[in-house]
Formats: sequence, structure tokens, C-alpha cells
Amino acid sequence: MASRKFFVGGNWKMNGDRESIGSLVQVLNNGEFNPTETEVVVAPPMLYVGLVQQSLRPEIAVSVQTCHAAAKGAFTGEISPQMALDVGAQWAIIGHSERRNVFGESDALIAQKVKFALESGLKVMFCIGELLEQREAGLTSEVVIRQMEEVRNAISLAAWQNVVVAYEPVWAIGTGKTATPEQAQEVHHQLREWMAAQLSAELASVTRIIYGGSVNANNCRDLAKQEDIDGFLVGGASLKPDFITIINAQS
Ligand code: PEP
Repeated sequence: MASRKFFVGGNWKMNGDRESIGSLVQVLNNGEFNPTETEVVVAPPMLYVGLVQQSLRPEIAVSVQTCHAAAKGAFTGEISPQMALDVGAQWAIIGHSERRNVFGESDALIAQKVKFALESGLKVMFCIGELLEQREAGLTSEVVIRQMEEVRNAISLAAWQNVVVAYEPVWAIGTGKTATPEQAQEVHHQLREWMAAQLSAELASVTRIIYGGSVNANNCRDLAKQEDIDGFLVGGASLKPDFITIINAQS
């Protein structure tokens, strides 16, 4: 593998309360991992981002789960990248399948959000992935490449250095159905080839492409062995001590 640092993100979604989040932070603070080998980021629910940032060990960064494409204003319920940065977050997850499919965010809106978050100084886990019917219709590459193209058209080449691409087949998220290592590797490889052709050979070799979709303590090692899988975005298992095992999947 090229010199891509293994990356593991934990997406806590809309789960937890002060007590359970406090316990999870303790698990993370006591868990063993090598921060020079693996970059770890967790995304608590918005209301807890500041609290987690203050109590979490500094080797683990904090992310928001989405943020709007404006600094402030009449956007009820939204938060801005500036607010995320103000409470200590360094990352944003943008384009998660639940934002796309439950809240109806379009490729175009997601591209604007990625652009604005990067311009504001956040790093971005940019999520892409196909629905089951799209996979079954043989449209996987077309769908993920269209999602990538929207962002390519919106951001500068230089901005890609602050992007981690998360390939998350929608049929594998929260379903217990993981893509096989070969299925995931195939898409990751296509994405890297697309980057080499559409961005640059350099960006294709350094950009992390992580996999998400029912990753757990049992399947993470086989997935991590694939050449183009540079880490994971983890939902359900990021709420459990299993997350420490996943962080160490490559060591
Ligand atoms: C996710 O929400 O990004 C995710 C991959 O969830 P899960 O691991 O629960 O499938």
C-alpha cells in the first residue's frame, strides 16, 4: 500500500446520552492503539460534540455528522462549520446515506456542503454509495462516480488533501450485511482509478478510501487486508468496545 495512514471513523448517529457517552469516552481513552499508525475520529450527536471533545484523549479527533453550507443565518436546526470548529471539531461527515436518503440531500447540495466545510477549515469524510437496486441493476460504478463528479466539480484539486472518501454501500449500512472484501476492493479500486484519471496520480495514491457498512470486530481484519481499503467508517460497532478492535484491524 502507498503511504496512506489507516483511518477509522466512528459515526455515533443519534445515539447516547450523557451517561452512555461518558462511558464510551472512557472506553476510548483507555483503549490501546498506535496513533502514528492509525488516525481515529468520532462523530457524536451534535449536542455532545463539545462535551466529547473536552473529555476525549487528544489522539482522537472529533467530527460533526453534517453541517450546512453557510456560516450563519436563518437555517433552523442546522449548524455551520464555523460552529463545529468553535467547539473543537476538526472533521465533518458529509453525504452520509441517511442524509441523502432519509433527509433528501441531493448530490448538488452535498457538493456545496463539502466545498464550504473545506473552505471553512474542516476536514471531510465524504460518503458515497449505491442502493441495493442500483447494485442489482449493475449501476454501482456509475452511481459512485456521479457522486464523486459532483464534488470534483465543486472543489479545487488542493482541497482533496483534506478529504477522506467513505464508500458505504447503502444496502450494507446498519443491516448486518457487509460487502465482501472482494466487493469492497473492486469499488475502491475503481474509485482510485477514477481519481488517477480525473484528479491526479498523486491524489489517487495518497487519498484514503475507507469502507463503511456493518463493519465489526469479526470482519474488519479481512477487509483491512485489501489493497485499496484504507480504513473504515463504523456505525453500530463504534458504540461498543469492539471499536478498539476495529481501530487495530491493520496492526
Ligand atoms: C454508517 O453509519 O456509516 C455505518 C457504516 O453504519 P453501520 O456500521 O452500523 O453499518
